[in-house]
Amino acid sequence: MHHDKIILNHGGGGLLTKELISNLFYTYFKNDILLEQGDSAILNTEAGHLAFTTDSYVVDPIFFPGGNIGKLAVCGTVNDLSVSGAKPLYLSAGFIIEEGLSMNDLEEIVRSMAEEAKKAGVQIVCGDTKVVNRGKCDKVFINTSGIGILEDRHKEIGSGRKIQVGDKIIINGFVGDHGIAVLGARKSLNFQTEIKSDCASLSHIIQEVLAEVDVHFMRDATRGGLATVLNEIAEHRNFGIEINEDEIPVREETQGVCELLGFDPLYLANEGKVVMVVPADKVEVCLSILQNNELAKDSRTIGEIVESYPGKVILKTSIGGRRFVELNTGEQLPRIC
Ligand code: MG
Repeated sequence: MHHDKIILNHGGGGLLTKELISNLFYTYFKNDILLEQGDSAILNTEAGHLAFTTDSYVVDPIFFPGGNIGKLAVCGTVNDLSVSGAKPLYLSAGFIIEEGLSMNDLEEIVRSMAEEAKKAGVQIVCGDTKVVNRGKCDKVFINTSGIGILEDRHKEIGSGRKIQVGDKIIINGFVGDHGIAVLGARKSLNFQTEIKSDCASLSHIIQEVLAEVDVHFMRDATRGGLATVLNEIAEHRNFGIEINEDEIPVREETQGVCELLGFDPLYLANEGKVVMVVPADKVEVCLSILQNNELAKDSRTIGEIVESYPGKVILKTSIGGRRFVELNTGEQLPRIC
């Protein structure tokens, strides 16, 4: 689809984002490292393997139940490094601040970044500050980049090359909490919810799993939700993915809000959820490590890698039907992260 101008959906994480990245960014920037398309770029240096990643945060509102834009900016980048198999070490923090932002709000944001960085085991070691005129950005936007190190045996985790038919797919808990919490905090949508964002750094729990389990692939299910990650896994690969609707952890309240507003929980954003692809004989040990941790106590096996329907994601529904789960092409929710 050709567009003369950027529309909001170019940032939605679905098909239009994918087209923008492939047709524009990859065309001009292309190199072998970028085209691996992992959550982090894997750099093979003389000093060892490094993971390097960057992300910008524009969430609206900047404070929401369970977090704020600062906590999100640390967790998101820490998680992109972690799901690449790396141990996150250093972050940068760039701030674009709108004239008029309250100093108290900024301090609260920075304070929670420091707190989350400590929890995640990373240091924020460089940064940048810009202030723009009132109305030229919305309160504050934050960019974080991150660097981590990874062991040789983990360097293919982000590429998906190790995925095999028969591997099981695990998720570490309820989907959609972040999306629902942020939407609920937007007064305009007029619904109230008890649900808090799942925003959390998964560095420690992922390192614990990696110490025991030969994880074949990982990705954090952020913008675009579980459905988008599963499609990214299936895409370009010679296999399909089959998931069971009954096994996917969805809170009753999330389901309710989705029915009310016409969303699908599979496409809602998460900020503390990792999708793991593991060999079938390692599922038990993987789940026992995960379920022992507060951030993953509701972990479940939700499906498996299958030979049929290469490149496709098939959902076995509660009532016994089957349908494809497509990459989202419809309206997405802007500024969810
Ligand atoms: Mg990611």
